[in-house]
Amino acid sequence: MEALLVFNAGSSSLKFQIFDIADGRLERRIRGKIDGIGSSPRLRATTADGAELVARSFDGAAVPDLPAAIAEARDWLLALEGVELRAIGHRVVHGGPEYIGPVLIDATVLDRLVHYQNLAPLHQPNNLVPIRLAMEINPEVPQVACFDTAFHHGRAEHTDCYALPRTFYDQGVRRYGFHGLSYEYIAERLCEVAPEVARGRVIVAHLGSGASMCALRGGQSIETTMGFTALDGLPMGTRPGQLDPGVVLHLITAKGMSVEEVSDLLYHNAGLKGLSGISNDVRELLASDDPRASFAIAHFVHRCRLHAGMLAAALGGIDVFVFTAGVGENSAPIRARIAEALAWLGAEVDAAANEAGAALISTTRSRIALHVIPTDEELMIARHTLALISTHMD
Ligand code: ADP
Repeated sequence: MEALLVFNAGSSSLKFQIFDIADGRLERRIRGKIDGIGSSPRLRATTADGAELVARSFDGAAVPDLPAAIAEARDWLLALEGVELRAIGHRVVHGGPEYIGPVLIDATVLDRLVHYQNLAPLHQPNNLVPIRLAMEINPEVPQVACFDTAFHHGRAEHTDCYALPRTFYDQGVRRYGFHGLSYEYIAERLCEVAPEVARGRVIVAHLGSGASMCALRGGQSIETTMGFTALDGLPMGTRPGQLDPGVVLHLITAKGMSVEEVSDLLYHNAGLKGLSGISNDVRELLASDDPRASFAIAHFVHRCRLHAGMLAAALGGIDVFVFTAGVGENSAPIRARIAEALAWLGAEVDAAANEAGAALISTTRSRIALHVIPTDEELMIARHTLALISTHMD
């Protein structure tokens, strides 16, 4: 059967999924992931309904980097029966000012995406690895890049600029925003889940190991907490979120830290991990009775409160608040604490529904509907990929 392959390549993990194309519709067939690349790599894949297909551990040296992980995934995928690859869709973090929607990848596009590595130095190079490999190995299979930045494009210029001389904006120094594929999926899903309010004033909180919030009006992004890079906004697993740029100058000039050291601090050793000194994982922090763990969580919730307030101001009020991604979908205590922080806006959480993991967790009295919607970036990539190759091949 004709199928799409979707890649989502991160720094230490590679997610891949296969979607069958049945009568022009997408049916998910396989979810796969290799994580622990370079340390304790593990390949896991299941069917769409969760039945295990493979669970294999590797020696760290056998899968030291992303190309090696892709080779493992590819070997496993090639052994599958009945997959006729129609196209490959990729998550690409940065489309720069130029790519405001999904694009068919050719050598020129790849050159531009390499150029945008400067705008996302830690994410973009990884995203490009599977693209290059597929170009070499399967040059006849069309590839589509789907950007995290694209969904936020089109915001008013006075909202996506920094107060820097105009030339910087023209050179691409802008508040792009990220997690766009997730927000686009949620915006679509909300139309099905809550059609009466989906086009109203919506805040979506994508709370995973990376975290951001987005203000939607009419299903479009009008404001978001991330900016030029995926460092800004909310505190994250290992990233600090909003930080006075003066701190960076201080670290370099007064503390003598190199650019590499500061970069490593900001991307890998700050956020919940840095603040707690315990873990970047919200589960571990919630389970710990170490006061540093509860301190880090308190900081996270406080920053969520402030950023939600900022987005509510941008929207002129709020009708719906959506929790998504690893923490938002799975952590009732964090949802409860953020919802309590929104009480001044009229939010009231239904404790039993929240504990039970219901899709709607607000009371009937609540002025704001509180929803929990699992995100699906890979489905969004597959939809974009199918749409683009269908128009190009028609
Ligand atoms: P990403 O795709 O950005 O790697 P996810 O959206 O999968 O991240 O989120 C991963 C994070 O979700 C983990 O680091 C963990 O902190 C959090 N998480 C997952 N399950 C739970 C849970 N039951 N309670 C609290 N946090 C959770």
